[in-house]
Amino acid sequence: MRLMDNEEYVKFIKIKQKEECFADPDRIKIVAQSDKNFEKVLPYLATQFPNAIYSQEAGFISYKEKRRMISIFATGKIGITYLKDEEEARQTLEKIRKKINWVYKNKDKIDISGIDKRKPLNALQIYRYLPALNCGRCGFPTCMSFAFKLLSVEVTVDKCLPLFEDSKYHKKKEDLLKLLRSAGFLKG
Ligand code: SF4
Repeated sequence: MRLMDNEEYVKFIKIKQKEECFADPDRIKIVAQSDKNFEKVLPYLATQFPNAIYSQEAGFISYKEKRRMISIFATGKIGITYLKDEEEARQTLEKIRKKINWVYKNKDKIDISGIDKRKPLNALQIYRYLPALNCGRCGFPTCMSFAFKLLSVEVTVDKCLPLFEDSKYHKKKEDLLKLLRSAGFLKG
């Protein structure tokens, strides 16, 4: 898509959902949607955040900004956690919108040859390594719902406390961490 000189690729990003943040009930998390998808811009955008997790197959990048987790999806969806209020959400989204527009305009100058092309992953593969207790300690009613949330980068694996606390799940934990790393969901 060719833009006029002063034209911006992403014109707006709207907040679609707002709820209490899992990590702190005094904070909020939001889901927003852009007027454009980020399919073409995503690998270039990933180079702008050195600690970002990028999965080409799953179509997202995810990075931490202080205690905040920001996930940007190829579909144009954006999830942000640990926000003070809606005003902070709007300011953060505006910063992201400007960054995406800058990347879109400059993508010919950005080298993406070093970007990882990770394996695809689905919720069932993750579920196999969870304790299958459906205890709700992670904040979700079932292990399967937790697996889906992990896949959409709305939660981190360490929120499954039994997996990390009980030594009988040690092997499952190690295998799951390996799987998440190989799929680009974890660094290191
Ligand atoms: S804390 Fe772990 S075992 Fe319990 S429901 Fe969540 S994912 Fe399943």
